[in-house]
Amino acid sequence: MRVLLVEDDAMIGAAVEGALKDAAYAVDWLRDGRMATLAVASQTYDIIVLDLGLPGCDGMDILAEIRKANDPAPVVIMTARDEVTDRIRGLDIGADDYLTKPFALSELLARMRAVMRRRRTLVDTVMSSGDIKLDTSTRQVRVGESTTLQLSRREYTLLEALMNHPGAILSRSQLEDRVYGWGEEVESNAIEFLIHALRKKVGHQRIKNIRGVGWMVSGDA
Ligand code: CA
Repeated sequence: MRVLLVEDDAMIGAAVEGALKDAAYAVDWLRDGRMATLAVASQTYDIIVLDLGLPGCDGMDILAEIRKANDPAPVVIMTARDEVTDRIRGLDIGADDYLTKPFALSELLARMRAVMRRRRTLVDTVMSSGDIKLDTSTRQVRVGESTTLQLSRREYTLLEALMNHPGAILSRSQLEDRVYGWGEEVESNAIEFLIHALRKKVGHQRIKNIRGVGWMVSGDA
């Protein structure tokens, strides 16, 4: 999953970015509101986490822009303003949920999963493909009756991307988009390496390669 984080406060931003990365999201963190509208126009996000009080451009205006552009990404607002009117306005303009600062990072992650499920960005909390089970709330992966597999953050993110679209072929660039945020160096064969490592753990036959097109996991639950 790829998330756009818009937050000008360095400390809050770093804390949220860290928590999102730990939760295996690819994160693009922007501190500037105008940059955020450009980012949304050029990149597809699974979810947007948006601060309202931003320099140069109000978060509420960014939200209006996003919705005007018919971007379907769910938006969770983070705001220090706890006035009821702001919350209602945010929800009216098209936010999916909001959190009032200060909030627990675990609550942000839970709310994000909830809005992605509602929007069907995330199919289910527990995804399955054949005998693979992936729990997005605990980030645990099992194959059959095996114990929890030890996956790296990127291996997990890649598997989650495939399992969120079982039976569908994802191209290399689609997978790169889900696994890497800005500023992360992507070697040309990085996805092949990740697939190779992942197959060793989940079993080679469980991730199919369609030559020249991409990779997929089985659509049979
Ligand atoms: Ca702020």
